[in-house]
Amino acid sequence: PLILGLESSCDDTAAAVLRGQEVLSSVVMGQAELHAAFGGVVPEIAARAHAEKLDLAIEQAIEQAGIALPQIDAIAVTAGPGLIGGVLSGVMMAKGLAAGLGKPMIGVNHLAGHALTPRLTDALSYPYLMLLVSGGHCQFLIVRGAQDFTRLGGTIDDAPGEAFDKTARLLGLPQPGGPSVEQAARMGDETRFRFPRPLLDREGCDLSFSGLKTALLRMRDQIVAAQGGLYEQDRNDLCAGFQAAIRDVLAEKTRRALALYLAEAPDMPAFAIAGGVAANGAIREALTTLCAAHDVRFTAPPLRLCTDNAAMIAYAGGELLKAGELSDMSLSARPRWPLDRSAAPLLGSGK
Ligand code: ATP
Ligand code: FE
Repeated sequence: PLILGLESSCDDTAAAVLRGQEVLSSVVMGQAELHAAFGGVVPEIAARAHAEKLDLAIEQAIEQAGIALPQIDAIAVTAGPGLIGGVLSGVMMAKGLAAGLGKPMIGVNHLAGHALTPRLTDALSYPYLMLLVSGGHCQFLIVRGAQDFTRLGGTIDDAPGEAFDKTARLLGLPQPGGPSVEQAARMGDETRFRFPRPLLDREGCDLSFSGLKTALLRMRDQIVAAQGGLYEQDRNDLCAGFQAAIRDVLAEKTRRALALYLAEAPDMPAFAIAGGVAANGAIREALTTLCAAHDVRFTAPPLRLCTDNAAMIAYAGGELLKAGELSDMSLSARPRWPLDRSAAPLLGSGK
């Protein structure tokens, strides 16, 4: 079937067309320049931009796919979790299209979109272990089916991408912080500054990253107080130490998650990493080595499909369509929507 996917839950307006497993088009319109001056995504600005850009994104996705809109068999749309204004824009657009074209609509969990992407790109079979690590998320999932996820743990505060972005801001490096911190770290000495390795003493797969930013701030201020300024080598060393801490924590928690996953004796053990932070070379290398040591296949979808996009939403929608899981006009936009209900926290965002 031909599936149109729509994504507008954060700061990317995206539309894509899939024919089965084949990505015919995937349009992603970022909003970075709109939010740049504010040092973070401003929900009201994001919502208005999604409402303005969705039409164009859909038009381009249809044109690049070489089809006409009425040929679409179904519309898949992110119905949460995310910034409510943006999610609402997408859901309303999907309802309009579904009603206008007389085609079914499928509400998709954004996290399920990320979690199922390795099946689209690498044909992984269930169950596989996934680490979703981005600007907004950090969690370990055993993916057992299109609607069957077990959450093994996740961050109790910031996501690593957020930590990279804040570090860049504190050190005067450009946004997005991940790539600029990684670049600086390459010229730095990771042993000069000793960053904490949060939550390693606690059992399980939960992670914490907010303390790293506090540690960084303290070290930066100490250097400035002692030397009267921050030099390039100091900055590189700080980045290297910070990145090493994130790498080590992710590697150790992945080791624990792998142990839980492997205890189930999966037929074809596989680990997939997704999200913007998966682009980090040091983190990738550590996790690749870890998987090799456990005879687990390591995969990472290409970056354009593991950061926010609509192809993953169309794919997840297609899987739900196969299972007969259609939405009706009562589909609502959900700011919070944990994948694994049993593991959902009673309080807090649980992201
Ligand atoms: P979501 O969390 O909803 O998936 P997002 O836009 O916050 O969306 P992504 O687009 O997946 O997240 O990823 C962006 C994040 O990835 C940013 O925080 C960015 O700093 C980080 N990132 C990108 N490249 C690197 C890198 N090389 N090293 C570390 N972090 C990186
Ligand atoms: Fe995302």
